[in-house]
Amino acid sequence: MMRNRKKIRFFRSHIPEFSCVPGCHDCCGPIMASTEEMSRLPLVEDAKRETALAKWDCPHLGVSGCQVYEERPLICRLFGTTPRLKCPHGKQPETMIDAAIEMKIEIYFRKVRHVMV
Ligand code: SF4
Ligand code: SF4
Repeated sequence: MMRNRKKIRFFRSHIPEFSCVPGCHDCCGPIMASTEEMSRLPLVEDAKRETALAKWDCPHLGVSGCQVYEERPLICRLFGTTPRLKCPHGKQPETMIDAAIEMKIEIYFRKVRHVMV
């Protein structure tokens, strides 16, 4: 668990940040997260989760955007920072994610158990 915690901290600090279209959450939807990341998110009632998923929404998306922004999972942070997950509105950081870091994240996604948020 400790190793995963360190990895998440490492990945988070190496994913470049950028400014989104104000109020946009078009890339939010049902996502997968590791159990370490899940443990940082508030519990969502089953009914709320089902309603969100039925609309192809993320259960943590509120009227004013992501309600768990500080602890949003890696996949949310990665979106827009790699040509493989391009923002449909052309937003991106000045420098895209380093290819070696992206590869490490991919391996992490494959190796560590992920569940639906
Ligand atoms: S990355 Fe693009 S689609 Fe996603 S919230 Fe930002 S502006 Fe919207
Ligand atoms: S956790 Fe937040 S940023 Fe990620 S999909 Fe859900 S609402 Fe969007």
